[in-house]
Amino acid sequence: MDYLFTEEQKQIRKLVRRIAEEKVVPVRAELDESETFPRDIMRACADTGLFGVSLPEAYGGLGGGITESCLVVEELSRACLGVSVSYAASLLGAYPILIGGSEELKKRYLPQLASGKRLAAFGLTEANAGSDASGIRTEARRDGNYYVINGTKQWITNGGEADIYSVITITERSKGGRGATGFVLEKGMEGFSFGKKEKKLGIRASATRELIFQDCRVPKENIIGREGTGFIIAMKALDRNRPSVGGQAIGVSQGALDLAVAYAREREQFGNKIISFQAVQHMLADMAIQVEAARALVYAVTRYIDTNPKDFSKLSAIAKVFPSDAAMKVTIDALQIFGGYGYMREYPVEKMMRDAKILQIYEGTNQIQRNVIALELIKEAASKKR
Ligand SMILES: Cc1cc2nc3c(=O)[nH]c(=O)nc-3n(C[C@H](O)[C@H](O)[C@H](O)COP(=O)(O)OP(=O)(O)OC[C@H]3O[C@@H](n4cnc5c(N)ncnc54)[C@H](O)[C@@H]3O)c2cc1C
Repeated sequence: MDYLFTEEQKQIRKLVRRIAEEKVVPVRAELDESETFPRDIMRACADTGLFGVSLPEAYGGLGGGITESCLVVEELSRACLGVSVSYAASLLGAYPILIGGSEELKKRYLPQLASGKRLAAFGLTEANAGSDASGIRTEARRDGNYYVINGTKQWITNGGEADIYSVITITERSKGGRGATGFVLEKGMEGFSFGKKEKKLGIRASATRELIFQDCRVPKENIIGREGTGFIIAMKALDRNRPSVGGQAIGVSQGALDLAVAYAREREQFGNKIISFQAVQHMLADMAIQVEAARALVYAVTRYIDTNPKDFSKLSAIAKVFPSDAAMKVTIDALQIFGGYGYMREYPVEKMMRDAKILQIYEGTNQIQRNVIALELIKEAASKKR
């Protein structure tokens, strides 16, 4: 099914599929093994304009929406989730500036990010504030024309590799989430350093690091929006980006399904290709059902979001939960079809299964997304009653 993509969208998909096959597939096992950031692949994405697909033309982008960035993410994820998240995290880092930044801030940073010459990251999570993001402690204190930032951000994707960081701090502690404020920080600013690179189960090509701020002085012009709007801007950025986690899920699921079908057509046991056994066929059929249902959902939601509706938290959460739960199941089943070979690092399915797990955790765990969906259901029911 081609999901009624426009010619331009089909061209984007074709281009990324070529990059994925030529540049990602040959090196994915090595990137995973050596935990190496895919700098050359990011450069290839930048050279072909892919970092600008969902940013406005006024800021150097190609003027598309999240449907376009989801297509990029899906195709990269089909080859390697560690690579695709490095791309996707840069967009997530750009969204707070796009959503809440002043015109001056947008003009200063978005063209650099659209060109892919510089990468971005998004810093919200802290050691004691994960799901409860309103509990962050990193503090920004106004000092004349500057804000002085102190604290740490944990597990930040593209940490150390990105040049531009959208970071959420607290400017008024007594107000909790309503006292949060976002800032754009640049690598190299005095008082801004990085912790060790985390050793992870999956997406090992991506860099995950701590951001450390020790009396880091940021010009007041780098504030994103106004004091007190940081939490809302962060939530809006995550709502906008969450279907892209769905895109990552479809990609890795499709990649695993393709490999499982190919393997089942080759592998012989009891004198027959294993694809001739109905138990195997049904597993493959169930995998295909999950992948196609997830794809239909994700692109229906991205198209809706691209029409600029006011509130889309529930749909955005649904477009993350269903595909990511499906990806976990599909990649586990793909490994099962490979039998013992699937358990070996020589074959790519075990990496896909390790990679897929993160999709149920980051950008708000699937439990938290279910809370969001349920809350919206309750609100909708209450408003119908009135
Ligand atoms: C590889 C990786 C990359 C990441 N990249 C980034 C990044 O770029 N930027 C960033 O800001 N953050 C990033 N994160 C952080 C990520 O978003 C958080 O890990 C996630 O939001 C969950 O927070 P936590 O790990 O502290 O889990 P916790 O909040 O401690 O949750 C632990 C468990 O309790 C459950 N739980 C908690 N509260 C509730 C509740 N109210 N109801 C039901 N269940 C609940 C959770 O679902 C989970 O199962 C990254 C994390 C990882 C692992």
